[in-house]
Amino acid sequence: VPAVAAVEVTKVYGSGDAAVHALRGISVGFAKGAFTAIMGPSGSGKSTLMHCLAGLDTVSGGRIVLGDAEITGMSDRQLTMLRRDRVGFVFQAFNLLPTLTAEQNILLPMELAGRKVDRFWFNQVVDVVGLGDRLRHRPSELSGGQQQRVACARALVARPDVIFADEPTGNLDSRSGAEVLSFLRSSVREMGQTIVMVTHDPVAASYADRVVFLRDGQIVSEIVQPTPDTVL
Ligand code: ADP
Ligand code: ADP
Repeated sequence: VPAVAAVEVTKVYGSGDAAVHALRGISVGFAKGAFTAIMGPSGSGKSTLMHCLAGLDTVSGGRIVLGDAEITGMSDRQLTMLRRDRVGFVFQAFNLLPTLTAEQNILLPMELAGRKVDRFWFNQVVDVVGLGDRLRHRPSELSGGQQQRVACARALVARPDVIFADEPTGNLDSRSGAEVLSFLRSSVREMGQTIVMVTHDPVAASYADRVVFLRDGQIVSEIVQPTPDTVL
């Protein structure tokens, strides 16, 4: 069973002459414990597909299945709970609270949701994120790459079934971007996390196990690529 799958998904924005067919029959599954990149030119439907997979937007046709849950047709309230409990997000903007330390930012969503933090898991996340004593620093005292790693750790600590990352390196220079991508890949390799990442950057996509290419709302090709640590 894939972590998340789209089955013959279509998405139309607007209607009549103004209708935009953003997704034109997409069927794709994302395996558990895999790091997949979705690539394609601007306007090809990457964000729309990610939003539909994550329950942030509804499909016009077809189905989305998250683990064993059919999310098509769920109420807004059910979708909100599903996103809170089973899905993690990383965006281009880090969205950290400036007055909290890195560690407090990482733990905040769990506290707001009233969920108990698994200390063993938390320590593993903190170990892999590699921020050391900077965990007690505020975002303004961290580099861009460190801030985005905090945002990734915040998503990871809730143990989501899938992390959706939308252009996570879009605001970063190449060195900081590499730090973040290495961390994401380590979370897949060492912790079994499932990640679906939208990017238009081929370097970012090179960190993924698999790359799915979109064009005009359809999947036009995909590649499974050996990453350095699978070659070894
Ligand atoms: P990408 O992420 O690959 O750049 P998008 O998924 O953002 O592509 O957009 C796919 C197509 O759908 C584009 O033609 C875009 O203009 C259109 N689109 C996206 N969101 C909306 C919306 N909320 N309303 C109308 N059209 C939209
Ligand atoms: P990205 O760079 O991630 O593809 P976009 O700049 O295409 O993002 O879109 C940003 C937001 O605006 C998205 O939430 C998308 O749904 C929405 N959007 C994109 N195109 C349109 C459009 N033509 N009309 C209305 N909303 C749009």
